[in-house]
Order: sequence, then C-alpha cells, then structure tokens
Amino acid sequence: METDADTKLYALIGNPVTKSLSPFIHNYVFDFLNQNKIYIAHKIDKGNLANSIKAIKALGYGGINVTTPHKINVIEYLDDLDVSAKNIGAVNTIKIVEGKLMGYNTDGIGFLDMLEENEVELRGKKSLILGAGGAARAIAIILAGTQISHLSVSNRTNERADLLIEELRQVNKEIVFSNAFKKHNFREFDLVINATSVGMFPNIDETPIDLEMINEDAILCDIVYKPHLTKFLKLGLERGHRVIFGIEMLIAQALASQEIWQGTKIDKVEIKRELQERFS
Ligand code: NAP
Repeated sequence: METDADTKLYALIGNPVTKSLSPFIHNYVFDFLNQNKIYIAHKIDKGNLANSIKAIKALGYGGINVTTPHKINVIEYLDDLDVSAKNIGAVNTIKIVEGKLMGYNTDGIGFLDMLEENEVELRGKKSLILGAGGAARAIAIILAGTQISHLSVSNRTNERADLLIEELRQVNKEIVFSNAFKKHNFREFDLVINATSVGMFPNIDETPIDLEMINEDAILCDIVYKPHLTKFLKLGLERGHRVIFGIEMLIAQALASQEIWQGTKIDKVEIKRELQERFS
C-alpha cells in the first residue's frame, strides 16, 4: 500500500492493540476498493484518551475503531451517538465528518450478519449467551430485537447477568429472558454462544462450558477468534455440532464499520471470502 500527501487516515485505538487483526482487514478493504486510505493501530492508555481524540480530530482522520478499555469512556468525547451505540451503551466505531464525531456500535450488527450468512434460523429458538461483558451485551441486545423465543445469560459474575436480563426485559416483552447461572444442563438451547474471553490466546485449553451439558443438535458459536479453532469449537466439532467461528463476526463488524465510513453499502461477498480464507 502506498501513501501520499492525500492519504486519509483511519485507526484503531485501545490497549492492547498489538495482536489486532483490524489493520489487516481494513487495509485489505481500502486496497480492494482502490481508495487512498490507510488504517493503523494506536495503543492508547486510559489517561491519554482525551488528548488522543483531540489529536485524531486535528489530524483529520476519517474514522476510528475503539476497543478495550475505551468503548464506554469514549462516549463523553463524541458529538452524537447512533441508536446502535445508544442501545448498547458502548461505541466501537466513530465517523468523523467536518470535525464532528458520531459514535456507532457494529458488534451486534456483525453478530447478526454472521448468523444470517450461516443461515441460522432464529424464529422461536432458544439461545444461551455465556458472558455478560461488552460483547455479550451487544449480542444480547441485538438478539432481543429478533424473533427468538428464549434468551438466557450465564456469567461468572452472576450480578452482571442479572442486570443485563433486567435491561433486556425492558427491550422486548415477547421474549422469555432468564439467568442460566444455576442450571445444571443446557439441553434446551438451540444456539449456544461463547461471548466470554475464555479460550482466548494464551489460555487456549480452556472452555466456557462442559459440552456434555448441551444438546448435540445445538449450534455453537464462539466469538473468540484467537485461536481460530477454540477448544470450545474443537470439542463441538468432535461431538458433531454445527459451529460458527469468531472470525466471521470480526469480519462482519469490520465491514459494518466500513459501510458507516464509506456512507454506502459495499459489495461484501468477495471481501468476506478472501478474508475468511486468509484467517482460517
Ligand atoms: P469483557 O467486556 O472484558 O467481558 C469478558 C467476559 O468474559 C465477562 O463476561 C467475564 O466474566 C468473562 N470471563 C473472563 N474470564 C473468565 C473466566 N476465566 N471464566 C469465566 N468467565 C470469564 O470482554 P468483551 O469485549 O466482551 O470480549 C469478550 C471476548 O470476545 C474477547 O475474547 C474478545 O476478543 C471477543 N470479541 C470478539 C469479537 C468478534 O468480532 N469476534 C468482538 C468483540 C469481542 P465476568 O463478568 O465474571 O468478569
């Protein structure tokens, strides 16, 4: 990729960012679209967030992605929030137009896009989310807007799951929401989503749940993408489950950020195929 005086800047801010796949994905998209834009990663400590946002504005960046630990704190520096970020209470994408910063969240959209790509039927299905952190929240809130019949949450820190469930009950009265913390088996669930960081590199031998507790017909989805084949999905494949890989959501949420920055839909089929092959 070549840069010149007109190259438009995009970036990821967070800490850590060294292992992020976002620079590869976004630079691939800019190349694919033949655009004079470049995406870099900035390691930003909590104490440097305010100055970094000022600098990003001053330097004329077109947009940024935001990751841990700034997804919530960044909101106070923004001019406006899209409904996707308002609903989730966190921002992972910022579009900058004429110095004004607009915050979005593409995690939920990316998750739904991934399910659609995999032709997962949601109507009347029972879904279990493991985790109640930032990504789990985004997934839970987007699922609460679908036609699933039941949504349960199980989290190591049970109070966080309770809080999330209370919130979800306000979003949609048609869905049965429950806490699965005390359950001894999860055989009723059609879709089991690992939205914890359990199994993520370097703790690759950990699984978020004993698979014996899950129905063999359940679809397993792991949003952890490093490693590509997590222990949860590996054991799932051995038991004959249909599995969905975290990289698919990562690519889908990145392409949703791109569409926000580009201000238009992009033809994602080939980009997705190429990127998924690259990371599998
Ligand atoms: P987060 O806000 O820090 O939440 C972490 C979640 O994992 C919490 O529910 C936490 O439980 C749970 N957890 C952590 N260690 C645990 C352990 N040893 N045992 C049981 N539960 C544990 O992080 P996040 O932003 O939601 O991200 C979670 C994972 O999703 C990360 O691996 C991240 O890379 C991945 N992710 C993937 C995508 C994608 O596009 N594929 C997008 C976003 C995130 P407590 O509440 O008890 O602490």
